[in-house]
Amino acid sequence: MLTDSFGRTATDLRVSLTDRCNLRCSYCMPAEGLDWLPKPELLTDDELIRLIRLAVTRLGITEIRFTGGEPLLRRGLAGLVARVAALTPRPDISLTTNGIGLDRLAPSLRAAGLDRINVSFDTLSPEVFVQLSRRDRLADVVSGLAAAAAAGLTPVKVNSVLMRGVNDHEALPLLRFCLERGYQLRFIEQMPLDAQHGWRRAEMVTADEILQALSAEFSLTPDDPADRGSAPAERFLVDGGPATVGIIASVTRPFCGACDRIRLTADGQLRNCLFARTENDLRTPLRAGASDDALAAQWLACIRAKLPGHGINDPDFLQPSRPMSAIGG
Ligand code: SAM
Repeated sequence: MLTDSFGRTATDLRVSLTDRCNLRCSYCMPAEGLDWLPKPELLTDDELIRLIRLAVTRLGITEIRFTGGEPLLRRGLAGLVARVAALTPRPDISLTTNGIGLDRLAPSLRAAGLDRINVSFDTLSPEVFVQLSRRDRLADVVSGLAAAAAAGLTPVKVNSVLMRGVNDHEALPLLRFCLERGYQLRFIEQMPLDAQHGWRRAEMVTADEILQALSAEFSLTPDDPADRGSAPAERFLVDGGPATVGIIASVTRPFCGACDRIRLTADGQLRNCLFARTENDLRTPLRAGASDDALAAQWLACIRAKLPGHGINDPDFLQPSRPMSAIGG
């Protein structure tokens, strides 16, 4: 088991499949993009499956979430999903995506064994979409969402980041849009993870502000906190339920005490926190022929070094040197 020195056990492995993305969301990366990792540095499918198998069969991981960068850009994604679905015990398999290309890929991903999906969707306005992501792809995301629901990847979860002066007037319209279609909306507080280090606390739209905006039209009652477990989202019943809306208040109400995650980057580095300042290199020993025992020892060393919290609110907080797109959100 991947238990850290504070008694938390990691069971949820986030696997970044690529650092590349077809959007340039301003809370994530600069307009010109980033220096992408050279292909030889990326784990191959076989290397990924070896590490995931180890995590699932020996280290107690029960959920695999594919992310990135944009994971739909990874060639052969459905094949990877199918190989993970064939593991025993079979983990839950989920995907976080910007939705571009999902209209084409959703049925094959579902058939391969994908259980759940989270689609990032921050605005209903084509103009704001271009401003925020520097690409004109709103219609692709909307059709991707519909295709995910039609393929049975339900409930479709939607992640929204609100930015002050950009889309912070859209909390209510986004909730209405999701309620009408049966999508589960969750707002994520903007975190200091952008490559260009432009995050400013004062500019962040807080969970309290979002709840206040939603309360203008809907009655929100906290869902049973006992059901939350290690889930990052605080959930609220909308107008008595059963529909819900979630708030992931990573900054103003950190939930590190219940964290059950560990992350594998696309270039084979293990991270015990989104905000970790160190990584455990698995790729070098993997390519040098390390045994499963030796690799497992690396995982255990990584989790033992996990800090009690992400430190965003500490006076000496430093952003991780790698951006969100390289870490895997
Ligand atoms: N490309 C995929 C997507 O768009 O969902 C997966 C990777 S993306 C980095 C994962 C999630 O991180 C998205 O929901 C995105 O909105 C969120 N994200 C990126 N930068 C963020 C930031 N600075 N603060 C909060 N969430 C962020």
